[in-house]
Amino acid sequence: MKIVMMARNAELYSHRRLKEAAEERGHQLDIVNTLRCYMNIASRRPEIYYNGEKLPKYDAVIPRIGASVTFYGLAVLRQFEMMGVYPLNESVAIGRSRDKLRSMQLLARDGIGLPVTTFAHDPKLTEDVLKLAGKAPHVIKLLEGTQGIGVVLADTDRSAKSVVEAFRGAGVNIMVQEFIKEAGGTDIRALVVGGRVVAAMKRTGAEGEFRSNLHRGGSAQMVKISPEERVTAVRAAKTMGLNVCGVDLLRSNHGPVVMEVNSSPGLEGVEKATGIDIAGKIIDHLVKTAKPGGTKTKGK
Ligand code: ADP
Ligand code: GLU
Repeated sequence: MKIVMMARNAELYSHRRLKEAAEERGHQLDIVNTLRCYMNIASRRPEIYYNGEKLPKYDAVIPRIGASVTFYGLAVLRQFEMMGVYPLNESVAIGRSRDKLRSMQLLARDGIGLPVTTFAHDPKLTEDVLKLAGKAPHVIKLLEGTQGIGVVLADTDRSAKSVVEAFRGAGVNIMVQEFIKEAGGTDIRALVVGGRVVAAMKRTGAEGEFRSNLHRGGSAQMVKISPEERVTAVRAAKTMGLNVCGVDLLRSNHGPVVMEVNSSPGLEGVEKATGIDIAGKIIDHLVKTAKPGGTKTKGK
């Protein structure tokens, strides 16, 4: 099979692993720098150019679109879809997952457990929004944040109010959540591939840190998840329409709650913590399901 991977940095662990896994299985995998792809949007003749040449016809595309290049990356992916190239994750599903409020609304609609989450546009509503999220402490998050940056724990209503006002003053969008204290600074990352959890790790924040992100000094270990957690992760992936994703869960008193569904999950932490060949599972799933010329969205 001829596979193309959209990625900005071919040397990243996840990208190297996916290429290795494809080649070990006898497939070709070319990496193109997403931002260097260009295209003509001609009627009924979608094409993509790279380094002065038209890209050949690929059977499947693996989009690894970083949060900061979502807009252009999705345009390139739609173009591949219009050319009939089978996407590991569809452009519409990735677009959905990049909007945190939309994601939470879709998950809530399907009855998936979530932390109590509130948001409002008008800064005059700050007190009401905090009240709706329940008693302090609150977690206040930048909608566009990643890697735990822009996630703040406010212990009192007073500090929450100042944090909300500061973020608002900076003109950024935020949401407010109940603080799931009982998670104890840990979360679960479940890797879902083709409707199954293929690996799960528990991430624990550094001493004194409530955020468990590996980028914030957290550590990861393999974890056995409960059937309820497994079902929650699989349902969250299905709701988002993602074939491959990382579902972040917190263990709350009211069962597993989903914090986020990541459409380009990093493989390094989870492969190293669990020893599972996740890249191989992703390629196997892609080869099994790719129907060249048979994408559902065709870029719609
Ligand atoms: P990012 O997308 O930037 O990683 P997250 O929403 O995943 O941000 O939050 C970062 C970390 O903060 C999580 O991994 C988790 O450990 C902690 N955290 C986030 N929200 C809550 C919450 N409502 N209650 C308790 N801990 C939380
Ligand atoms: N790839 C990172 C992860 O899975 C995050 C990427 C993003 O925030 O879009 O943790």
